[in-house]
Amino acid sequence: MDNKAKQELKSHSLNLWHKFWIPKGSLWGENESRLDYLNGERFNTLNSYYKKDGRSPDQRSGWGGREGAGRPGKAGKKAGKAGKKAGKKAGKKAGKKAGKKAGKKAGKKAGKKAGKKAGKKAGKKAGKKAGKKAGKKAGKERRESRPLALRGSKDAGASAPPPRHVIPVFLKDNPYITDGYRAYLPSRLCLKSLFILSNETVNIWSHLLGFLLFFTLGIYDLTAVLPSAGASREDFVICSVCLFCFQVCMLCSVGYHLFCCHRSEKTSRRWMALDYAGISIGILGCYVSGVFYAFYCNNYWRQVYLITVLAMILAVFFAQIHPSYLTQQWHRLRSIIFCSVSGYGIIPTIHWVWLNGGVGASIVQEFAPRVVVMYFIAAVAFLFYISKVPERYFPGQLNYLGSSHQVWHILAVVMLYWWHQSMVYIMQYRHSKPCPEYITDL
Ligand SMILES: [Zn+2]
Repeated sequence: MDNKAKQELKSHSLNLWHKFWIPKGSLWGENESRLDYLNGERFNTLNSYYKKDGRSPDQRSGWGGREGAGRPGKAGKKAGKAGKKAGKKAGKKAGKKAGKKAGKKAGKKAGKKAGKKAGKKAGKKAGKKAGKKAGKKAGKERRESRPLALRGSKDAGASAPPPRHVIPVFLKDNPYITDGYRAYLPSRLCLKSLFILSNETVNIWSHLLGFLLFFTLGIYDLTAVLPSAGASREDFVICSVCLFCFQVCMLCSVGYHLFCCHRSEKTSRRWMALDYAGISIGILGCYVSGVFYAFYCNNYWRQVYLITVLAMILAVFFAQIHPSYLTQQWHRLRSIIFCSVSGYGIIPTIHWVWLNGGVGASIVQEFAPRVVVMYFIAAVAFLFYISKVPERYFPGQLNYLGSSHQVWHILAVVMLYWWHQSMVYIMQYRHSKPCPEYITDL
């Protein structure tokens, strides 16, 4: 890449930041995303750089290639070879000359031979070094320019490449969100897009703030709430596990919504798998704390339910390894698995009510409503998630704010917060009132 192109590229990336804030309508059409528009422009600029490398446009815009390995590129290798050759030649020449001069003094023939040999060696070494350096530099340049365009992949020729300004299919799982997509971004720009308005901004920030909430709650619980309630070591462990699970759940979601627009579909899919794994971990956090305190006075059932829940979550993890798990065809099955894992909690709840002497018991009257509220929030959140309401009725109008996934995210934080508060409450209750005799006998 020559200096002019380099400079152009630099100013282009700088301009990108200003362009993000140009008001909608002045630069792009109705349904064209501003980020996508910019990406399109970026690729156009880059295509002119890539005209030199001899690859076809199909190869250049192949979608779904693997992450680039950190090897020097073809151009770099070529430059290295050339450098080696030049160095060898120069060394040979210099050596020959020096040898000639020395030979004049100590015998023309012998000097010529020795000088030739030494010069050859020195020249080879110098040439190799220079060539390597040049090759490395060229490779680096090539790598640096790579994030701005799409790399070729094995299946590039099999399917027609998508037009540059079209949103990738795997990002468009919600047809009612028509604008605000980020697409084909390298990791660095994915991270930077945290501060850019897109249709994922609320999704990202809701769970980033959720993470901060549970992180702060964790510190507050471990330093103030638990010591003042006279908590045991077990309480500390359960509380830490629960809040750690909630934080992991939030961070996985943030990661997915940040990197779903990655230029590599594989990377996007991996983050999606991690998002699902995070949800299972969040559910595990709820179960562990819930079962631990509900069956506080009955060690046998506490162990039975903890083991069952762990086995169930592990099964969900293994299901995720299946290559079809994240496909559109398995969408329904994913929802069924997710619902059964969450719904399973009704069984220990009913058992707990029965063990405590039915709905009339004071502890049941105090805590059963909390479980009901928890399930109610979960059900409402899930209904939003699958029905895609309200954007279904206002397609293209709730792209940035008010879409179903945003409601689902906020309700998820509310739900986990509610569960945490309930757990703190039941923990304090358990430490203020000893276990009744009749439950321990069962
Ligand atoms: Zn999400």
